[in-house]
Amino acid sequence: MSETFLLGNGVVVAGFSASCIVKPQVIPGGAVVWRGERVLAVGLESDLRRAYPGARFLDARGGLILPGLINLHHHFYSALARGLDPGARLRTFTEVLDRLWWRLDRALDPETLRLSALLSVADCIRWGCTTVFDHHASPSCIAGSLDVIADVVDASGLSAVLCYEVTDRNGHDQARAGIEENLRFIRQQSGHPRIRGVFGLHASFTLRDTTLAEVAERRPGQAGCHIHAAEDPLDVEASRRAFGLGPVERLERFGLLDDRCLLAHGIHLETTDYASIANHGAVLVHNPESNANNGVGHLDAVNAAKQGCLVGIGTDGMSSAMLRALRAAFLTHRARRTDPGAGFEVLPELLFNNARVARRFFDEPLLGELAPGAPADVIVVDAPAPTPVGPENLFGHLVYGASEAPVRHTIARGRVLLEDYCHRTLDPVEAAARARELTPPLWKRFGEMNCGTNFLGE
Ligand SMILES: [Zn+2]
Repeated sequence: MSETFLLGNGVVVAGFSASCIVKPQVIPGGAVVWRGERVLAVGLESDLRRAYPGARFLDARGGLILPGLINLHHHFYSALARGLDPGARLRTFTEVLDRLWWRLDRALDPETLRLSALLSVADCIRWGCTTVFDHHASPSCIAGSLDVIADVVDASGLSAVLCYEVTDRNGHDQARAGIEENLRFIRQQSGHPRIRGVFGLHASFTLRDTTLAEVAERRPGQAGCHIHAAEDPLDVEASRRAFGLGPVERLERFGLLDDRCLLAHGIHLETTDYASIANHGAVLVHNPESNANNGVGHLDAVNAAKQGCLVGIGTDGMSSAMLRALRAAFLTHRARRTDPGAGFEVLPELLFNNARVARRFFDEPLLGELAPGAPADVIVVDAPAPTPVGPENLFGHLVYGASEAPVRHTIARGRVLLEDYCHRTLDPVEAAARARELTPPLWKRFGEMNCGTNFLGE
């Protein structure tokens, strides 16, 4: 019989919703009880201590007790880019890809790939993310690369939706190898409770029609697509030039735009594209920090939501800190609108939508909530509230307090992964030391990689 845990001495936030006022989800003096992988009870700590007298107590020390956070767009492979010199000032989005990311991903080998995944997963745990959607590329080692990442994720205790980035930029043979890797992994993982596969696609402007047709023909019915869309005007312009259609139109044409399709960024789309995304129930993933970093503009998430799009949030490899990404979304939205009152009306929905999207990929209708029967994904943010917390001001506490605070405990599917800031399932200090040994040869290979990639490998 599994041990019963009681996490208390904090303020429980049982779930996020678009309008926090609709139902009372904030419980000061609250606690969460779980056994095995499932939440048993959520309520007042005094009541739950009486009901579960033998439970092992975990102390939140006044912090916020939240459902585990969900990241809809990450790149684990970017972990060893920190401090990397691309050799010249990057002036355009094309140069960001061609001189930085497309040289780094080609330089990865299985061991640097494994360490990148391990360090990124450790950061996810450190920032309270328990479910993550990763988008992977390693053109020099495609076959089996998703297994390397899945092994790391599996051992860590997290839940993940993984994919390999299909692209023609390194030639059509590599595109086909990417398709095979996705297919193999999707089939292999279909029964796994915590790790799933979807079809990874780079972006419209590096995918030939023949490649999209093969993906459409061969992908298993329930497998979604995870693609970059209109991150920069380049994607729209190059797609129209080569194929006569924009990125969303092409996905629609090939039947790939559905409610399991995740489109990262979606900044430079037309009104008709947002309507198509909404009509097909597809998902837009806002990545505010990465967009600022790459100087590509910002998605107007509020406008996209008003047009009926389901908009979630990710980090695009910039970090693994979801509450900080939420704060960035909030601030960039206000800056964009030059309106100090903007943002509270829709941006809280981003966290709620992440749970709605994740539930489509796992058979877990209560994922992202703290409720009896839900997966026991629970975190404690070390932000004891200095003012009253209630459903009406929760978002203020998240943006102005919790987003800057460290995470004390991370529990995923009932397993304690981080306890009082200490990792229980992996050792990021040892991994970082090993990574520092392997980074110089990785960066040397990076420096020897050619630039001037042709988008369609022609
Ligand atoms: Zn990305």
